[in-house]
Amino acid sequence: MGLKQNIWTTPAEHLRLTRPDHPVIYAAPRRIQSAARRFVDGFPGQVSYAVKANPEAVMVSNLAAAGVSAFDVASPDEMALVRAAVPQAALHYNNPVRSTEEIARAVELGVVSYAVDSFSELDKLMAALPRTAEIAVRFKLPVKGAVYDFGDKFGAPPEKAAALLRRVGAAGFRPSITFHPGTQCNDPRAWATYIAEAARISDKAGVPLARLNVGGGFPSHREGGRAPALGPIFAAIGQAARAAFGPEGPALLCEPGRALAAEGVALATRVKALRDGGDVFLNDGIYGGLAEAPLMGRIDRIAVLDPAGAPRCGAPVERVLFGPTCDSLDRLPGVLRLPGDMAEGDYILFFGMGAYSTATATRFNGYGALEKAVVLGLLP
Ligand SMILES: *Cc1c(COP(=O)(O)O)cnc(C)c1O
Repeated sequence: MGLKQNIWTTPAEHLRLTRPDHPVIYAAPRRIQSAARRFVDGFPGQVSYAVKANPEAVMVSNLAAAGVSAFDVASPDEMALVRAAVPQAALHYNNPVRSTEEIARAVELGVVSYAVDSFSELDKLMAALPRTAEIAVRFKLPVKGAVYDFGDKFGAPPEKAAALLRRVGAAGFRPSITFHPGTQCNDPRAWATYIAEAARISDKAGVPLARLNVGGGFPSHREGGRAPALGPIFAAIGQAARAAFGPEGPALLCEPGRALAAEGVALATRVKALRDGGDVFLNDGIYGGLAEAPLMGRIDRIAVLDPAGAPRCGAPVERVLFGPTCDSLDRLPGVLRLPGDMAEGDYILFFGMGAYSTATATRFNGYGALEKAVVLGLLP
């Protein structure tokens, strides 16, 4: 009777020893923790993890171990999974639309903070929450800078946000403001514009803020040799808050999903076929771990390994990549430059794949079953 090995040195070691014919997702706790520390040490306020990006226990518990003390949850199931992994965590319920039953469950689980963007939803909260709860009014602006923004669905225009904030303050809750600049936002000015408007909304309502939640949207490393610099974004947020609110301004909070989850995880897919020497067919695609590709563009941080786990290094050839399903949308956008000596049975490792990958994978057409493995390091 042997023990099943469940921690591996690298993805290459796991691929060489097990030769999986299904996709594998590798999580590296050390890398998850270093991404967390970058935020905890660098952001001028509290860091809350947006659980929807990756709700796996390995993610939640390693972020907590590295100092992330709050979690942005959108549903009772997310609350329960965080409570199970990190019993002491502060839960922030920032999905602005909730059923009465969901609100009751949140109160039961001790959620301390709630976001809202409509009067009808505020009425539901006011009827159920203790006055010690924080209610953050979510507003939106037509700001560019993100790969896509969430303004279509959530956020009150500034006028209405001021009226909501007045009502929150008058009712005696902890009044806050929140916004979300979109996802994979590379431009610090997006946050600065929102922060300046948040101060105007607070003034207009005559309600000083207990806290300002600057949302998520921080970029992860998807393309090219250099990771996006988070330092200048953190600095711009701190500066914009001092300029807008003065030195006695509200405490700051951010709620990144992508930028905390992406870097500590890699996805291995296998080359099922090189059809007539041309197009590459993988065993995972846009209905599985690569779900974001059509929306976010390709991720070109990759390594190609032969079945023995050794890197392919042939001169690059441009290839079109398809996923395994019979659906014709199942292809990665654009072309990727891949080693010319790549062959059927090889593995393609995609790096920076921890966000919105396993969380949204489906089993469409019988594919999408991802093996999960823990590794000490991600590089082959
Ligand atoms: C999805 C979401 C986030 C996280 O967004 P990222 O782009 O992954 O950082 C933060 N806050 C709210 C309210 C969200 O819905």
